Amino acid sequence: MDGPNLVRRVAAAVLAVAVFGALSTLTPARGQVKPVARAEPAAPKPKPKPVPPPKPPPPDCARLRCVALTFDDGPAASTAELLDTLAARKVRATFFIVGENAAKHPDLVRREHEGGHEIADHSYTHADLGRASEKKITDELTRTQEAIRRASGVVPVLLRPPYGSTSERLKKITRRMGLAQVLWTVDPLDWEHRDTAYVERRVLKAVRPGYIVLMHDIHPTSVKAVPKIIDRLAAEGYVFVTVSELFGGRPAPGEEYVQRNSGDPQGLP
Ligand SMILES: [Zn+2]
Repeated sequence: MDGPNLVRRVAAAVLAVAVFGALSTLTPARGQVKPVARAEPAAPKPKPKPVPPPKPPPPDCARLRCVALTFDDGPAASTAELLDTLAARKVRATFFIVGENAAKHPDLVRREHEGGHEIADHSYTHADLGRASEKKITDELTRTQEAIRRASGVVPVLLRPPYGSTSERLKKITRRMGLAQVLWTVDPLDWEHRDTAYVERRVLKAVRPGYIVLMHDIHPTSVKAVPKIIDRLAAEGYVFVTVSELFGGRPAPGEEYVQRNSGDPQGLP
């Protein structure tokens, strides 16, 4: 066998093996044949959803001394200092936002969200929703939800009606819009008493496990009361949670929440 002949034969053998190999990959083994709909175009692949970083489980407020700090009427210039205070102490709170302020300070709304706080609805113009018409209520709530969504990407599930003023009509609309109503158990009247020491005293005296504390981040005197309130309550074993966490997840739309009853596993009102 001369050289070129050998090369040709080897080449032919290699080719045969290659062709056989290629054919065998095209021919599925018995039992592996899957029916294929030939006429239909392939469905577009769903876009992969961004995976959020894993969150630690929320505190179990049926066992712990939970308290929810809530701040109304902002955001305003003083909100930035409050966010620093909360971040330094790793405390999360709930902000009931006035829609027109969200439109003025979208950066602060975004910071609230990025800080892990809960963002909630407090009407667009701080309106008395309990006395408002259906059209007015819907307008106030829809505009606020939209302003908050635009600023932070979040659509709130909680509403605090300004002045705590509610009605059957508001209840129906909030149920339809997926909003639970949140009132409060501790009110230091900080809008009236622009006095840091007074606000500290009033809050610290009144807090019990499961309570919701109402303050206003638009008042610098209230913002300055927060460090001492947090430090004292933390020393007493309190755990700071958002309002939704206080009630064990997502509060029921249309329902009214004032405080968590101790030992209540579901956190129903
Ligand atoms: Zn208010």
